[in-house]
Amino acid sequence: MTSLEAEVASRRTFAIISHPDAGKTTITEQLLLFGGIVREAGTVKARKSGNFAKSDWMEIEQKRGISVTSSVMQFDYEGKRINILDTPGHEDFSEDTYRTLMAVDSAVMVIDSAKGIEPQTKKLFQICKMRGIPIFTFMNKLDRDGRDPLDLIAELEDVLGVEGYPMNWPIGMGKELKGLYDRYHNRVAVFRPDSEETAYLPLDENGDIVGDNPLKEDSWYQDARDNMELIADAGNQFDEQKIATGDQTPVFFGSALANFGVKTFLETYLTFAPEPAPHRTENDGVVEPTDSNFSGFVFKIQANMDPRHRDRIAFVRVCSGLFTHGMDVTLGRTNKTMRLSNVTQFMADTRENVDTAVAGDIIGLYDTGNYQIGDTIFTGKQPVKFEKLPQFTPELFVSVQAKNVMKQKSFHKGIQQLVQEGAIQLYTSYSTGDYILGAVGQLQFEVFQFRMQNEYNSEVVMEPMGHKIARWINPDQLDEKMSSSRNLLVKDRGGEPLFLFENQFAERWFKDKYPDVELTSKL
Ligand code: GDP
Repeated sequence: MTSLEAEVASRRTFAIISHPDAGKTTITEQLLLFGGIVREAGTVKARKSGNFAKSDWMEIEQKRGISVTSSVMQFDYEGKRINILDTPGHEDFSEDTYRTLMAVDSAVMVIDSAKGIEPQTKKLFQICKMRGIPIFTFMNKLDRDGRDPLDLIAELEDVLGVEGYPMNWPIGMGKELKGLYDRYHNRVAVFRPDSEETAYLPLDENGDIVGDNPLKEDSWYQDARDNMELIADAGNQFDEQKIATGDQTPVFFGSALANFGVKTFLETYLTFAPEPAPHRTENDGVVEPTDSNFSGFVFKIQANMDPRHRDRIAFVRVCSGLFTHGMDVTLGRTNKTMRLSNVTQFMADTRENVDTAVAGDIIGLYDTGNYQIGDTIFTGKQPVKFEKLPQFTPELFVSVQAKNVMKQKSFHKGIQQLVQEGAIQLYTSYSTGDYILGAVGQLQFEVFQFRMQNEYNSEVVMEPMGHKIARWINPDQLDEKMSSSRNLLVKDRGGEPLFLFENQFAERWFKDKYPDVELTSKL
């Protein structure tokens, strides 16, 4: 194995997907702790405490100063180098959150065992599913009373359409939590709330605890064994192939807060989590992570602290070769040579200058406006162009106008650039030609408004249109008379027609009325 191959083979790059409050931050902090990275209490936490919806851009930016450092967290554990990519929730949920999932090789899904699958988890899951990447599930908060574990497993299949394979099973929960019956490692992990260390009891060939132990008489223990037997007979078979394609998810129960079951989770995850995957190019080629030429793509652009200098950080997922400090690369879109001398890699606590990076790693390029989302950079004579990043279906809409009609020019320029950058999506009304903006989260509008004013000197007026269901229509079937106030006809940036339905009833009504018309959504 060459040293590049060995480096690549050690990388594991994933995102944690969850609904707010399921425990993503708590589990992330535990993982960093295992990696020997001790943070000041609450550094991961700090970025989520603000009410972004009400804050202005500077405040967003100040908070993001923290979030830039926690956007990507890297640590080493048992010979592996792990990159965790943050997927912001709450009010700062945006298309960037989705695009981050384009840059990972696997995902960890954290579920609150009292709540089960919640909306944001479902959305993020669907994007992972579309990519066909492995997904590992952590059912959290076992130290509280939660739902019946059998229900939680069934829900994975019913709501997400993924097979769940329980790697362990709770012995009691809440105040009655006694431990985890770990069928994968053939042992019982004993919950000792007063101790930092978990005690493990080995199982015999019948699946019973070896020797005498009072736990053997415990009814929760007997329950757990019964359930495990039931699942062994009637449940899914462990299938590594299905795990690799995201059709089966290994499920681990535990408590992030009590640090119970997290280490076993991490270690088991690391045995199954994939190495950096090859990336497909637009002309059906494939770039292997161990190819000697460097390549990568921009999946996120984050404006930097100082709005007076349009400084940004362009986040690049390295796909092949070796990044070295100061190297020259070609930016595919413009064919310009760029020197990568001002580059950041994201260690857990601080932003540190990075000297080398390989496939699976993320580097942050200081950008003064050269990069766009989806850009490819590469070395070598052969141009590399990766498959386009997908477009996501926005759910929130506003109509937008320039406040000062005399300033149309800067208004149009600003919109065009911010749309191109992927900050927001733009639609035009068929009937009036009015501009409509679409986003997946409210913060996108606020950032848009602030940046229009600050960077393009254009004050905008936005009128909320609320939630809509966007459905693209086959242009050959389009008749403008189909449009109404409940299903507004608009064009996207590429001129493709779509309807913005007021709600599901409006969509259903339309489908009943025009049964032959094809309606499709993006992701
Ligand atoms: P995030 O929004 O997904 O990042 O969730 P946090 O990690 O911030 O957790 C949300 C709340 O749930 C916090 O008050 C945590 O202390 C709490 N929490 C997280 N994990 C557990 C757990 O395993 N058990 C209990 N009882 N509370 C937890």
